[in-house]
Amino acid sequence: MKEQNYDVIVIGTGPGGASCATLLQKRGIRTLLLEKNEVLGGKMYSVDSDGYAYDLFPHGQVPIRGNAFEDIFAELGVSDEYVPALDIDDQREMITMAYRRKEWPEYRVLSQKQGLTDPTPFFELWGATPEECEQIMAVMVEIMTLPPEERAKLDDVTMDEWLAARQVRSGPLYSYLGFQANASLAEPIDLVAASEMILILQQMMIQGGGGQYKGGFALLTNVMLREFEKNGGTLVKGCRVEKILVDNGAVQGVTTAKGAFRAPVVVSSAGIHPTVLKLVGPEHFDKSYVNYVKRLVPGWAFTSIRYFLDKPVMKTGIYAVWSDESWLNLERFKQVKAGKLPDEITLFMVNHSFFDENAAPPGKQVLVSGTVCSSNPEAGEIEAVWEKMDQQMKKLFPEIWDAIERREYTGPREISQLTRDSVVTAGGGECVGLAQIVGQCGAMKPKSETPVRGLYLSGADAGAEGMGTHQSGLSGIRVTHMVEQYLDKLTKAL
Ligand SMILES: Cc1cc2nc3c(=O)[nH]c(=O)nc-3n(C[C@H](O)[C@H](O)[C@H](O)COP(=O)(O)OP(=O)(O)OC[C@H]3O[C@@H](n4cnc5c(N)ncnc54)[C@H](O)[C@@H]3O)c2cc1C
Repeated sequence: MKEQNYDVIVIGTGPGGASCATLLQKRGIRTLLLEKNEVLGGKMYSVDSDGYAYDLFPHGQVPIRGNAFEDIFAELGVSDEYVPALDIDDQREMITMAYRRKEWPEYRVLSQKQGLTDPTPFFELWGATPEECEQIMAVMVEIMTLPPEERAKLDDVTMDEWLAARQVRSGPLYSYLGFQANASLAEPIDLVAASEMILILQQMMIQGGGGQYKGGFALLTNVMLREFEKNGGTLVKGCRVEKILVDNGAVQGVTTAKGAFRAPVVVSSAGIHPTVLKLVGPEHFDKSYVNYVKRLVPGWAFTSIRYFLDKPVMKTGIYAVWSDESWLNLERFKQVKAGKLPDEITLFMVNHSFFDENAAPPGKQVLVSGTVCSSNPEAGEIEAVWEKMDQQMKKLFPEIWDAIERREYTGPREISQLTRDSVVTAGGGECVGLAQIVGQCGAMKPKSETPVRGLYLSGADAGAEGMGTHQSGLSGIRVTHMVEQYLDKLTKAL
């Protein structure tokens, strides 16, 4: 490697790291970007092989309009390449929803265009009574119109508590939000902060949800990293950071198997637990900060199955399946961990071919399905969850069963191996890092600045709000600004 000294070293090419490194380099700051894997993109990694192009994990972006990546692409001068494969005014029947009320023997299935502004299809799907419709409308209007300053007061209120205060404790709306908490936020409704869930629902309704990209989310990574290198940034793949070097309370650089690199700033998107407790080491922090970090609760994971079909069977782009008894709250999660799975399971599935004609070879189809699960890489119940997912797929969509050529299974162990070291109990397989857990998001979210001078956290664990990829991009934008200011101060001090 030619140079060993940089202005900034960024760890990780997921959306949090890639966005920050790319923007720093664009602003003339000499940046080294280190990625432990040979593949790029972190959890936003898309597979591109054998004529297939799809996301390894089932993704849908919120919001579609006003997304962090729209701003990043604009700053890079490549707005014309920011082309979501689903726009907010797309008129195609995009989503298929299957729902079963407790008292119904069978699921009701309905396909519709995206957008949550028209409640009629939901009322139909849910078989809502006139009284239920009235209550649902009142709550949804309140959600949609809640101003940011009121929303911000709900960082330590769970969505379940917020709904209970409105006498919504069961019924189709509660079930739908229980499903959304699992499927969109990878959390249970009784652990997710109302502030974040309401924000994401507002964005879904007003700015669109379920966003996709041709070739998968790798489109975002590929463009950002291409611009990073074009602007003179140095990207090293297959280069695991072993230690972040700290001396006298300030960052000095990093060590890797490929040598040591020096910089006064290190931005880590490796996750707050791995960064503080492993890469830097607790000895460099005040005890109270270490205890604070240790107490942060890892978000849940999403386990997925990819179905490769020998003919195109599914017609719409996204499939959402839930019943009153399928989504997981804390109590049901406890049961799952004890090996008692619900009879039915919630599913969120992406059919990439709907969004991209080149997602699969001609005459084939790939479906990426997922459900919420423990983030513990050692979780013993994952195989039983996969079995249940397969059963649920077969029951709801029997037409795919004869078309399956092969299946691939991914759980928290694989998520951790790909993206995040496991350094705390149940940590490593998180879907969205600390996610939207009550008491540790919004104003209560860990700050991107740390007590070590020159060490910043970017990505899903710090400094931003909203759904997974968008949140990480937003964090990358904000950290870029902080780093610029810090370097400016350092220069002036010299
Ligand atoms: C199954 C699943 C489904 C999801 N669904 C959605 C969805 O529908 N919508 C949505 O918006 N989001 C979704 N997400 C979440 C989203 O992908 C993440 O929130 C986002 O990618 C996190 O970005 P990040 O940059 O913070 O971290 P990551 O993407 O985890 O990136 C971290 C990077 O750092 C690298 N790294 C770690 N340690 C080191 C080290 N020591 N040295 C060098 N490199 C290192 C990793 O290899 C990785 O590339 C999903 C995630 C999963 C797993």
